[in-house]
Amino acid sequence: MLAFAKLFPKLAWHQTRLLRVMGVMNGVPQGEYALLEYYCEKPGCDCRRLLLKVWCESSPKSSLASISFGWESQKFYQRCWCKDEDLPEPAPGIRLEWPGEQLKLSEALLALVKRAFELDPNYSERLKRHYEMCKKKLAEPMKGTSLKKRHKRSKDQRR
Ligand SMILES: [Zn+2]
Repeated sequence: MLAFAKLFPKLAWHQTRLLRVMGVMNGVPQGEYALLEYYCEKPGCDCRRLLLKVWCESSPKSSLASISFGWESQKFYQRCWCKDEDLPEPAPGIRLEWPGEQLKLSEALLALVKRAFELDPNYSERLKRHYEMCKKKLAEPMKGTSLKKRHKRSKDQRR
């Protein structure tokens, strides 16, 4: 499982969706909720889904909900054999994964996230774009990048 912010820290800073809750909304306490994106990190795997982890400043130690988003059909995911221990089974739609102790809160956050998708159709397009970017980046070392670039990358990784 690969954090989008790890591959594209600057872009993640600007393009990570923040949900601002004023007052209590459907059981979600007031605060800012960040939807952090995680993608499958297997080069060449085209599983077309991602995981959103909902984080809030007030409980920085763990995410409050894990929500998967798959934009292809049920048929597509039935044929999809992606296995990533940290990611749920590939499936269509926006779903709550591994409901934990705070089930009520996770469900309320799921409703909030679904609403964010409905209100802003560009959001799902952006996520698909981020998916493509991650997959492209993961494929790069095998595609024969220039030596200079390769050198730069290994330098970056050592940092
Ligand atoms: Zn995959």
